[in-house]
Amino acid sequence: MSQPQIDSSNADRRSQILEAALVCFAKRGFHQTSMHDISGEAGISVGLIYRYFENKEAVISAMAARHKEEIQQMLERARQAPSLLESLEILFTAHCCENEPRLISAFVVEKATPGLSVSKTEDKLGIRASDTAELVFDGCRVPAGNRIGEEGKGFHIALATLDGGRIGIAAQAVGIAAGAYERSVAYARERKAFGVPIGQHQMVQWMLADMATAIDGARLMTLKAATLKDAGRPYTKEASMAKLFAAETAMKVATDAVQVHGGYGYIREAEVERYFRDAKITQIYEGTSQIQKLVIAREVLK
Ligand SMILES: Cc1cc2nc3c(=O)[nH]c(=O)nc-3n(C[C@H](O)[C@H](O)[C@H](O)COP(=O)(O)OP(=O)(O)OC[C@H]3O[C@@H](n4cnc5c(N)ncnc54)[C@H](O)[C@@H]3O)c2cc1C
Repeated sequence: MSQPQIDSSNADRRSQILEAALVCFAKRGFHQTSMHDISGEAGISVGLIYRYFENKEAVISAMAARHKEEIQQMLERARQAPSLLESLEILFTAHCCENEPRLISAFVVEKATPGLSVSKTEDKLGIRASDTAELVFDGCRVPAGNRIGEEGKGFHIALATLDGGRIGIAAQAVGIAAGAYERSVAYARERKAFGVPIGQHQMVQWMLADMATAIDGARLMTLKAATLKDAGRPYTKEASMAKLFAAETAMKVATDAVQVHGGYGYIREAEVERYFRDAKITQIYEGTSQIQKLVIAREVLK
């Protein structure tokens, strides 16, 4: 099969196929989409699609390459003006397209843009070393050149970003759990009750054994999702599973770590008190544990 000529009409066709593929993937999911679906959506014969892209994976990698190029161009502009880089905020914002009002586009909004303000920094339960603030956009005007990807494609970019982000939160949860566990083991060796170190009481040993087992499982699941991502293979389900299991593990381990420390665990001075507060957010952001179950079930039932 000969390679297609790269001229402007070919570029248009490729673009048309990519758009159609995005619509099909959004409607049916990647695994349920066939080349025939894309062909129907694009109004281009399957044979022609095969001339431009060998298979669906090739379509996906072309999409990824295209977005990467656009994002790289944007970063390049920012690198040329280092002060700009410091003041860049990448975000997604609802943007009404003329004919498709429900679609969302992604933009870079520079910090100095008139109308952009930070309304308040939230007072949070945990992760207090990281500020969370509400951004207000009041009549902000953003140049079209600041758009990431194509108009109306922000939602797809956001979803693709979430899959990767979930591996990061899973890793964060493993770290919190591991920290709480290590301090519990140390405390179980040191603290004496009823004449012996508390680590010699079977019920404390069980808590430590459950912690060690769950943390190992969560770590391996996180590494599996990351390995699939690195290999360029599908990893949506694995990222959600890792995030779900690691977050639930972090919360359970941190709760038991406070228990192992007894009354001292409830005091600010004890580090496990902070792990307990920090663990909670991993069950919430980058999609709650309930949402991870929806994602996993959807993937399992494909
Ligand atoms: C500290 C912090 C930092 C954050 N950082 C970011 C960030 O950087 N970027 C960003 O985009 N967002 C961020 N968020 C937002 C975060 O991702 C959301 O809070 C989270 O996804 C949950 O959404 P929600 O708050 O709207 O909860 P809701 O959607 O209102 O959910 C409330 C409850 O209902 C459940 N629920 C909702 N829908 C369903 C359903 N279909 N089936 C079953 N149960 C359901 C949820 O699981 C939850 O238990 C942050 C939040 C916090 C607290």
